[in-house]
Amino acid sequence: MTGTMTADTSDTADLVFLPLGGAGEIGMNLNCYGYGPADARRWIIVDCGVLFGRETSTPGVDLMMPDVRFLEEVREDILGLILTHGHEDHLGAVAHLWPRLRCPVYATPFTARLLHDKLEEAGLEERVRVKIVPLGGAIRLGPFALEFISITHSIPEPNALAIRTPLGTIVHTGDWKLDPDPQLGEVTNDAALRRLGEEGVLAMVCDSTNALVPGESGSEAEVRRSLIRLIGSLKGRVAVTAFASNVARLQSVAEAAQAAGRELVLVGRAMRHMVNCARDTGYLKKFPRVLPEEQGAELPADHVLYLCTGSQGEPRAALARIAADEHPYVNLGEGDSVIFSSRIIPGNELAIFELQNQLAAKGIAVLTERDHFVHVSGHPARDELAQMYAWVKPRVAIPVHGELRHMSEHARFARELQVPEAVVALNGQMVRLAPGRAEIVDETPSGRLHLDGRMLVHEDDGFARARRSLSYAGFIGVTLVLDRKGRLAADPALHIEGIPEPVLEPVREAVARAANGKRARDEDLQETVRLAARRAANEVWGKKPIVRVQIVEI
Ligand SMILES: [Zn+2]
Ligand SMILES: [Zn+2]
Repeated sequence: MTGTMTADTSDTADLVFLPLGGAGEIGMNLNCYGYGPADARRWIIVDCGVLFGRETSTPGVDLMMPDVRFLEEVREDILGLILTHGHEDHLGAVAHLWPRLRCPVYATPFTARLLHDKLEEAGLEERVRVKIVPLGGAIRLGPFALEFISITHSIPEPNALAIRTPLGTIVHTGDWKLDPDPQLGEVTNDAALRRLGEEGVLAMVCDSTNALVPGESGSEAEVRRSLIRLIGSLKGRVAVTAFASNVARLQSVAEAAQAAGRELVLVGRAMRHMVNCARDTGYLKKFPRVLPEEQGAELPADHVLYLCTGSQGEPRAALARIAADEHPYVNLGEGDSVIFSSRIIPGNELAIFELQNQLAAKGIAVLTERDHFVHVSGHPARDELAQMYAWVKPRVAIPVHGELRHMSEHARFARELQVPEAVVALNGQMVRLAPGRAEIVDETPSGRLHLDGRMLVHEDDGFARARRSLSYAGFIGVTLVLDRKGRLAADPALHIEGIPEPVLEPVREAVARAANGKRARDEDLQETVRLAARRAANEVWGKKPIVRVQIVEI
């Protein structure tokens, strides 16, 4: 371990918490708990998720995930990876990072089913031992005794974990809200949470996503009633887009379709896949019949409802293809409606607004959570956080799953609720929970891995940065041909990509001048010419492109 702060070197056991993803960002959650003497701790990992790349900041990168260098070093002492639920920001990195961790994986049936399909795609299903834990089940991993506690969220089978250790009990909430009527699956097992509170809880590691939002998140039951009313009032074709993993929402939309006398058509691979996964694990028993896309096209406009992927404006998803008139079977136009039964994930604003403009341009009514009650969040607002702290009564509050502003506010709020200690730790900061006062005691390597095509590369390797520069200011390749005396034997050859034509001539002149005035070693000449080219481009254009200089001697 590369400790930049004083690490505990005593041989008495301690209990530590270490976030490697999701603490200081929303997405790619990975949390670790260690128990034992500082140089021989045994570890469990909770969740292993991804963050989606952004075309602007990480061009060409589809997914990002935590750098697990630290865990690779202690791999022999990892007892297991426990998944709280099936969202991508909690499970999406397993198929990519498991080869570096190689530990058994524990999940409840629905989550295990989603994971299975991902592992199969990665050709890992034979190698990874996935142990299915029943809802409310318990497992023991060395010094850690874990109990799964049903909670509510926006996907089937969300779980909080009670983690009992010889130095105290931790409640790891996972993602949650308090929905008294979630429409699918269990309600929150508040009796178990209260019981833990009475037993005494050392620390609660808790979701911060909506720590800045007052009130309550609202119930899926209210959304269902609202969707039934809204869809019942619409004429023409109706398309609804929602997160495919929000299976209760899919059921709500399906019931609204039925109530309005509309046949249901699922559009998009992820939507069909999620419905299959839910059915295979015992959910969606009352889901109505689903018509294939081509049959939907033959129905009168008032008799069809399309349930589509693409609520975040993803360019290859169903809704984007429909908006671009590129879908083979689904045609929407004047008099039809599209309902976004979802929220805007920060960073997707531009893509979503562009998609909505495209739909509006075709005369389609666009209905969103801004103007209609068509969505509730899956994360706890402040009244729900207060309720959870009242039940669990932890000695230490550890906010996770948020940007720093969410986590800091969450910590402040916890103190306001009389929680004695609150520690805000960012990715890589190790918190000792016991013995003694909770505090940050060490710093481990952390960061992001980028899935770039089929390769996992470290963010510091700079590929994304170079590609960003290329997209901003293009590329100039310079070839200099020198004679034996080191003089230019021909005009410099310039090769440009993404550079306006008028930049070319001034750069060529600057390159020739720099090369002629120089009689030095190659490297020196290369650098002089490179800088001259960038300076010349900047003078006429106001931008400095990436320049590479190649020297050929004859
Ligand atoms: Zn999450
Ligand atoms: Zn979640």
